[in-house]
Amino acid sequence: MKAVFFDGELKFVGDYPVPEPGENEALVRINMAGICNTDLEITRGYMGFRGVIGHEFVGRVEKVNGKDRRLTGRRVVAEINCGCGVCGYCIRGLKNHCPDRKVIGILNKDGAMAEYITVPTGNLLEVPENITDEEAVFTEPLAAAFEITRQTHIRPTDRVLVMGDGKLGLLCCLVLNLAHGDVSLVGKHANKLRIAGEQDVKTLLLERLKAEKSYDVVVECTGSPKGFGTALELVRPHGTVILKSTVAEGMEMNLAPLVINEITVTGSRCGPFAPALRALSRRLIDVRPLITGTFRFDRAGEAFARAKEKDSLKVIIDFRT
Ligand SMILES: [Zn+2]
Ligand SMILES: [Zn+2]
Repeated sequence: MKAVFFDGELKFVGDYPVPEPGENEALVRINMAGICNTDLEITRGYMGFRGVIGHEFVGRVEKVNGKDRRLTGRRVVAEINCGCGVCGYCIRGLKNHCPDRKVIGILNKDGAMAEYITVPTGNLLEVPENITDEEAVFTEPLAAAFEITRQTHIRPTDRVLVMGDGKLGLLCCLVLNLAHGDVSLVGKHANKLRIAGEQDVKTLLLERLKAEKSYDVVVECTGSPKGFGTALELVRPHGTVILKSTVAEGMEMNLAPLVINEITVTGSRCGPFAPALRALSRRLIDVRPLITGTFRFDRAGEAFARAKEKDSLKVIIDFRT
């Protein structure tokens, strides 16, 4: 099958073996897969991953090995963390943190940039018909944005600042704006800010941002090691900073401001898929303006090159024939 494969070098191959679903797994034929910043990080060595990359996808179940046969033929997306199912974390509903977990296209499990993938049936969610394939590819990053509202009570009276106008920053501000708070997005790119502005989020260019500690909640999505320090200059005493960027490189910083200003810091990663699908299906969030381009597999190399460009947002690879 066609696949985007990383073994120290990114390869676009036509003869990757079609996987066989294990016990209680489904074989899913991929319709489309999105390129995420994590995928680009993997091609730079992040996680030491080797195999088929990609974790943002929509596809159709071709066969099921085990129960849940009713999924056969359904159009689905999949939560990316595959817990062992038996450890203390998994039993307590923390499968995203299972020490033996596999993560689709990121850790010990082949990913979605291929014609087929195998996925535990418990990870699959059916996609409502009114969501297009291109929109469904956003379910995973949109779920990551919903994780913030699962973790933190953001009041409708709160002043919220989302830092960073990349894909994740845009999705986070659109999700937080659903609670009708006072949400602003700050970034460096007028064209990206405009996408949030058109969906009623206040936006401002970084150079216009006043360094005053006035925000109740600051969500850090810059992807830069300096982002956390800047967030601390913007959050009010007793406020909350939510860290969304996984910055692979380590850094040193003075944590005293956290203590002095009694700041709550929340790390935030993968989130729940069901609310993301509902938001897409009810048309509460329009992700279409975030699509930079959709490329067929034979142009996947071009798709990756486009995804690396500064002005690019979501690049999608189309595996349908
Ligand atoms: Zn992703
Ligand atoms: Zn487990």
